[in-house]
Amino acid sequence: MADFSIDPAFQDQLDWIRGFVKERVEPLDLAFQGEEGTYDRSGPFYTEAIRPLQQVVKGEGLWSCHLTPEYGGQGYGQVRLAYMNEILGRSQFGPTVFGSQAPDSGNAEIIAHYGTPEQKERYLQPLLDGEISSCYSMTEPQGGADPGVFRTRAVRDGDEWVIDGEKWFSSSLKYASFVVVMAVTDPDVPIYKGMSMFLVPADTPGIEVVRNVGVGEEAEGHGSHAYVRYNAVRVPAENLLGGEGNAFNVAQTRLGGGRLHHAMRTVGAVSRCLDMLCERALSRTTQGQLLAKKQMTQEKVADAWIELTQFRLQVLHAAWRVDQVGGHAARKEIAGVKVATPKVYREAVLRTMQLHGALGVSNEMPLARMLMSAVSMGIADGPSEVHKITVAREVLKEHSPAAGDWPSEHLPERRAAARAEWAELLERMAEQY
Ligand SMILES: Cc1cc2nc3c(=O)[nH]c(=O)nc-3n(C[C@H](O)[C@H](O)[C@H](O)COP(=O)(O)OP(=O)(O)OC[C@H]3O[C@@H](n4cnc5c(N)ncnc54)[C@H](O)[C@@H]3O)c2cc1C
Repeated sequence: MADFSIDPAFQDQLDWIRGFVKERVEPLDLAFQGEEGTYDRSGPFYTEAIRPLQQVVKGEGLWSCHLTPEYGGQGYGQVRLAYMNEILGRSQFGPTVFGSQAPDSGNAEIIAHYGTPEQKERYLQPLLDGEISSCYSMTEPQGGADPGVFRTRAVRDGDEWVIDGEKWFSSSLKYASFVVVMAVTDPDVPIYKGMSMFLVPADTPGIEVVRNVGVGEEAEGHGSHAYVRYNAVRVPAENLLGGEGNAFNVAQTRLGGGRLHHAMRTVGAVSRCLDMLCERALSRTTQGQLLAKKQMTQEKVADAWIELTQFRLQVLHAAWRVDQVGGHAARKEIAGVKVATPKVYREAVLRTMQLHGALGVSNEMPLARMLMSAVSMGIADGPSEVHKITVAREVLKEHSPAAGDWPSEHLPERRAAARAEWAELLERMAEQY
């Protein structure tokens, strides 16, 4: 039986997080909107605005709650993280202030899980302490959803690996101290066994950023997603992470939790859309009547609330399943949530934009930025189509083919069997009536 209950002590923490995000973190969203400097650990935005708030969060015992206490976190289960992340999702900088910002949170998870003691000391600890940031470099220009087309190679040369190839959309590389690079180490075996993961310091000779790409209407040259070339980049053999040929297992460790946490934060963003929608419906008058009095607005409000409630429960259920059986066994639930996230978010934003008229599509509301974020969520961490395939495969495993030529629900056979069972009563009733 699923249990999403919140104990009183945790409710107090959630109340504190809600107040703190509203009063201290949301003003950063307004003053520094779109600021990438959160990844620049020595820059003034990080040192003067973000770091003091992180100290407050640490003082409250709410830092990096997804990590185990061994790594300075709280070891929260996914259900608790769901309630916490839906509050953080209302703010752009919430995850950074609470120590759960992607891609650092995922990179920290894989180093904690697969790293050697030396790798943990050199890369993990400064990452957890917020002293450095990192990048995850997997997608290639010729394809991201299909690893079978990846061409970046790493070849062993004595005590070193030599990496050659191109990667695309390596987010925040320009601020990273190190990059987690996925490369083909054995082209003669199936790709799922032939790729490996490497920890590459960002100042290693041979790393060439072709350009930084932006999303949506970000001005040319202002984006933070690197199109990067690795030109004979040499790393020591000990920079291999998780063993040779093991990149896919390492990647799955990273992506499962990340997808779920994005969904949790999206619950917060969608509930923010509902708040905006209702406020507008209750504030704007047209043809002598509040928008809230119009049935087509009421339909929007009802649909918005129903979709949010369904989505929130789906996310909580997936979180609970992960707590019960682990991420691998809950892959159907995680993939289902990954598919629902951009869909629910997009609908929520579009509905809210529509009710705000011109203001809704203007740059004076947060909605256009939210729409781009919703669309991106259907692509980043794997497109929705690929996750639907996972859901379908897992659902089909729970079903069997029909025993004969007809479906098991085919009525003639079922009726004949049921009528045979009740033959005597049916006969008496036929005589009586
Ligand atoms: C904001 C953002 C940040 C990102 N950050 C990073 C990062 O830090 N590091 C990194 O390595 N990558 C990153 N990515 C890249 C992301 O992982 C890829 O975009 C994603 O894996 C899809 O790859 P692609 O863009 O090459 O699309 P493609 O693989 O070319 O797919 C394009 C479309 O084809 C269709 N399609 C693909 N496969 C199938 C299928 N099997 N069945 C049916 N239809 C299909 C879908 O409609 C899909 O959207 C980021 C992407 C975004 C948007």
